[in-house]
Amino acid sequence: MSTAAGAHVVVVGGGLVAATLTRELRRLGHTGPITIVSDEAEVPYDRPPLSKQVLAGTVTPEETRLLKPADLEDLDVTLRLEQPAAGLNPVAREVELADGGRLGYDVLVVATGSRARRLPTVPELSGVHHLRSLDDATAIAEALPGVRRLVVIGAGFIGLEVAAVARNRDIEVTVVETAARPLSRVLGEDAGEVVIELHEERGVEVRCSATVVEVRGADGVEGVLLDGGEFLPADLLLVGVGAVPNTEWLEGSGIEIDNGVVCDDRGRTSLPHVYAAGDVARWRNALTGAHARAEQWQSALEQASVVADAVTGGGRVWDTVPYFWSDQYDRKLQFCGAAGPVSERRDTARGPVVLFGDGDEQLVGVLTVGNPRALAQGRRLVAAGTAWPQAQEWLAGL
Ligand SMILES: Cc1cc2nc3c(=O)[nH]c(=O)nc-3n(C[C@H](O)[C@H](O)[C@H](O)COP(=O)(O)OP(=O)(O)OC[C@H]3O[C@@H](n4cnc5c(N)ncnc54)[C@H](O)[C@@H]3O)c2cc1C
Repeated sequence: MSTAAGAHVVVVGGGLVAATLTRELRRLGHTGPITIVSDEAEVPYDRPPLSKQVLAGTVTPEETRLLKPADLEDLDVTLRLEQPAAGLNPVAREVELADGGRLGYDVLVVATGSRARRLPTVPELSGVHHLRSLDDATAIAEALPGVRRLVVIGAGFIGLEVAAVARNRDIEVTVVETAARPLSRVLGEDAGEVVIELHEERGVEVRCSATVVEVRGADGVEGVLLDGGEFLPADLLLVGVGAVPNTEWLEGSGIEIDNGVVCDDRGRTSLPHVYAAGDVARWRNALTGAHARAEQWQSALEQASVVADAVTGGGRVWDTVPYFWSDQYDRKLQFCGAAGPVSERRDTARGPVVLFGDGDEQLVGVLTVGNPRALAQGRRLVAAGTAWPQAQEWLAGL
């Protein structure tokens, strides 16, 4: 799929992928029009600070913006805000907008991200929050000063980051997690232990193997009932139970969707002239062979850059070791690769390090807490396909 430099590139979704792709396209010499279509009222902004510095009050909403007014002019990009895409006609090469308008494209990049998963047991009630957008973060930041007791449903990264910010403000925090260990779906049970310790040391109560069966409250949330019959009072409830890819608008277009838009290692979808990247997309990683939705900042950035390369006629593939970080209290949790079935933990002077093996004698992932140097080394070892015994030697020497 090679594209003329003057082609009209339409990006649906105005987040990290849209901002990165625009910059990369211009850097690589794309001269044609670029249009970003977003359902939000905001220019593209960065989401990681929303559950950390924006809640702590150390970063303002303005500082999260990825494209400033001057950038929009320099990059010569048309931003169409509050314009949800409602459909795609790949034959006419048109995006259908919710207001009935149509937007033609030469190349389309699907970058609609994901949204916070809702639980059927949780009603819309004042004091109940999800966290995905700047508006969500602003609402939580405004509520926090009046909060004495926070309950977090789901011990995922976003919930744990909010728990840490709240605990730093002396709020009583309980995290309720259905699984036996936090993050076990992503990182396995060993890593979950590391996370429990981090939070329990700071006075957070982590209730694993527990499920919220009812949320109580009339005018506002009053608390939650657990499956064991216990009632936990709360004046703020944060629901952090994962994210769902925003693919509904593509239904009927014929594009292949399977827990995200299915892509190869260059972001190509099943439709000609249509790419996808970021949280909405399920890419193949050429290094690891995994075919998964990454839902990570670094992966979204790298995928946007690979798509820009493909659109401008390059041949790059996504072949880096997937990576993410999470800031909780004064510690940085970092993870690269995948959580294999075998794991080994060592508590170094700087903090715990967990190695993951594939059970077939190869290192496939590394988790560190407060040790960016070890993570960087570990990422190189994973990329090199290091044998498990050598990885164990490296761990012993840390
Ligand atoms: C609170 C929070 C904290 C995070 N912290 C970290 C972290 O510490 N480390 C890490 O690695 N990752 C983190 N992430 C993940 C990271 O931010 C995402 O992976 C990244 O934002 C993905 O970028 P994206 O462009 O694919 O999607 P997004 O940034 O979500 O952008 C998608 C955009 O598309 C819009 N959209 C949706 N549907 C439509 C439609 N039909 N029409 C038009 N527009 C539409 C959305 O409103 C949104 O503006 C965090 C995410 C959140 C929410």
